[in-house]
Amino acid sequence: ARYRTGQGWYDARLTAYAPLQMDPSTAALHYAQSIFEGLKAYAQPDGSVATFRPTANAARFARGAKRLAMPPVPEDGFLAAVDALVDADRDWVPTGPDQTLYIRPYQLATEPFLGVRPANEYLFLVIASPAGAYFSRGVHPVSVYLSEDYIRAAPGGTGDVKCAGNYAASLLAQEQAIAAGCDQVVWLDALEKRYVEEMGGMNLFFVLGSGADAELVTPELTGTLLPGITRDSLITLAREKGHTVTERRFSVEEWRKGVADGTVTETFACGTAAVITPVGEVRARTGDFVIGDGTPGPLSMELRSSLLDIQHGRVPDTHGWLHRVG
Ligand code: PMP
Repeated sequence: ARYRTGQGWYDARLTAYAPLQMDPSTAALHYAQSIFEGLKAYAQPDGSVATFRPTANAARFARGAKRLAMPPVPEDGFLAAVDALVDADRDWVPTGPDQTLYIRPYQLATEPFLGVRPANEYLFLVIASPAGAYFSRGVHPVSVYLSEDYIRAAPGGTGDVKCAGNYAASLLAQEQAIAAGCDQVVWLDALEKRYVEEMGGMNLFFVLGSGADAELVTPELTGTLLPGITRDSLITLAREKGHTVTERRFSVEEWRKGVADGTVTETFACGTAAVITPVGEVRARTGDFVIGDGTPGPLSMELRSSLLDIQHGRVPDTHGWLHRVG
């Protein structure tokens, strides 16, 4: 759909995937008024297709639009667009184990002009692509690199919305992590570079203790990290299993010491793409450390299967998280 100031949203339609035509002075290319979402559609055992918590994506998308001075896409328009695409692509929703259709809604400023101000014309698009299981050879713990040279988000910035600029600013640190032999970047807070915020595209959880008494800690939403929908779902599931979940600041020292004295037993990252990724190794200037024995922790794996079971319709959807398409 397109948007023009004074006219609102118009021209909603389903078209074949094709290149976009753009004016060289298209605002988004210069001033980065651009946001996106990521969600998935899952083939259900009864042959239907369902998306997972799309209203949460719609809400985050609208919040991002507001932060970037763009007109928000109303929730019903967002859901209708995602549904229409998934319905049209129904034959492309894979049915293999843990396979999905990845859906990417996005919005950008299309008005052609030079000069810094909010644009008066926007485009809202949704594209999709089949996605295989994230881990082709089983889940394995990843190594992470603490970014001490670069900061992802500062207070008052755009860290808690899914805007393109956040990712542009993170690419160099990601390159640095890979050069250091790590899989992912872990971002620290801007002011003290002491507290763990999140990973490149996932939120983090720390498991304290073990067994039924294990507690979970996840960095609180201070405005500089993305409120992940997987994070939110896992908080609910872990509490239902009887675990205490605390949202608070968690420092690198607490992480390192906890791993050394055995109080921090597992660390995992979570997001739409990989669901849960165990973290097995941390590289930092202040010293590297290893978490666990190279195999995924039990609570990480239990939460992972619980969430996947809901998403793939293998257990009843008691939270109303699945949205049937068509
Ligand atoms: N943090 C960042 C920076 C991300 O890009 C993502 C992926 N959207 C997440 C966290 C996890 O969010 P979600 O669980 O909604 O996929």
